[in-house]
Amino acid sequence: MIYLDNAATTAMHANIFEQMKPYYLETYGNPGSIHAAGRGALHAVMDARATVAKRLGCMPRQVTFTSGGTEADNQAIATAAHFGQRIGRMRMVASSIEHPAVLRALEAWKARGFEITLVDPDETGVVQASSIHDALDDDVCLVSVMAANNETGAVQSIEEIAAAAHSAGALFHTDAVQAAGHIPLNCEAAGVDLLSISAHKFHGPKGVGALVCRTREGAEPIIFGGGQERGRRSGTENVPGIVGLAAALEEACANMDGDARRVGELRDTLELRLASIDGAMIIAKNAPRVPGISNVCFDGLDHQAVVPLLDARGICASAGSACSAGAVQVSHVLRGMGVPDGLAKGSIRFSLSVDTTQEDVDAAAVAMQEIAASLKR
Ligand SMILES: *Cc1c(COP(=O)(O)O)cnc(C)c1O
Repeated sequence: MIYLDNAATTAMHANIFEQMKPYYLETYGNPGSIHAAGRGALHAVMDARATVAKRLGCMPRQVTFTSGGTEADNQAIATAAHFGQRIGRMRMVASSIEHPAVLRALEAWKARGFEITLVDPDETGVVQASSIHDALDDDVCLVSVMAANNETGAVQSIEEIAAAAHSAGALFHTDAVQAAGHIPLNCEAAGVDLLSISAHKFHGPKGVGALVCRTREGAEPIIFGGGQERGRRSGTENVPGIVGLAAALEEACANMDGDARRVGELRDTLELRLASIDGAMIIAKNAPRVPGISNVCFDGLDHQAVVPLLDARGICASAGSACSAGAVQVSHVLRGMGVPDGLAKGSIRFSLSVDTTQEDVDAAAVAMQEIAASLKR
């Protein structure tokens, strides 16, 4: 099997799993317990928090562990909504290319009285800070723009957008789920107030993520109970998961430069070969991108036909975002970029990782060439 769907999830690396294992089998205490077993687990969570804080450019107490990227996004938006309600600002601005975890969470706050403004990217897939700026006024409590898009890989100018948000008195949130561990991120340097990550997008375990919240009040709880995570996220800590998240983030960041170069070269090789297919168009080609994501539209083909044919040849790729897979609809990201629906229908996302080889890329290119030829015949 050739796995080119790393934007949907990545393989957990064996060395990460090995680091988690003792927290299932030996140090399985509850971090809230005051005996030795609990203390061991508590220390592991504290160490993990310090690692995450260092790698993301914030203080350890500003990190809240969650059940994943979706929960972190929801909590970030809830935090901004409460901030808005407190100071009487009832509008939230986001890009139209956000992940559903952000878009649907915003919709939920719309039902509770907030106005939501969505800003389109330019045709390269980049959200211009000036477009965000134009959408701001003194009624806005939140600007949310992802650090890198999950369908195109386009990297967004979060530093500029954060500055625009702050100049209007709004908080800035970035969904950094596709960016963390892949490109440099520093909350303090970039002026990010709220940032979401998820371990399974950088070879860590599924079901664990983190929210960084640098506001004075801290993250607003959305799950209530025993008061874990300083009351910001109740529920017994997922100790092995938290250990795995920190270990995977540490490893991804430590190897980032070399990995990004290698993966980027493989991505470029793949695109060079796919571009030779008649009617192929590489999406966000002229945008800065995370190294692993390639979205190619094949004019005249339908992703619903192509993905199963790739699968039949042992190649796992996806049509747009995995979250909307199965649904017969054109990607909201491509539509936001102004890609015509007819072309967007033939969009295939190939997403690579540090585990991807030259042979994988060669096989995918050959398969895609053959599939395109057979479908057009
Ligand atoms: C995968 C993803 C999420 C959701 O993260 P989960 O941990 O799967 O809940 C959110 N945002 C982006 C950009 C993603 O790619």
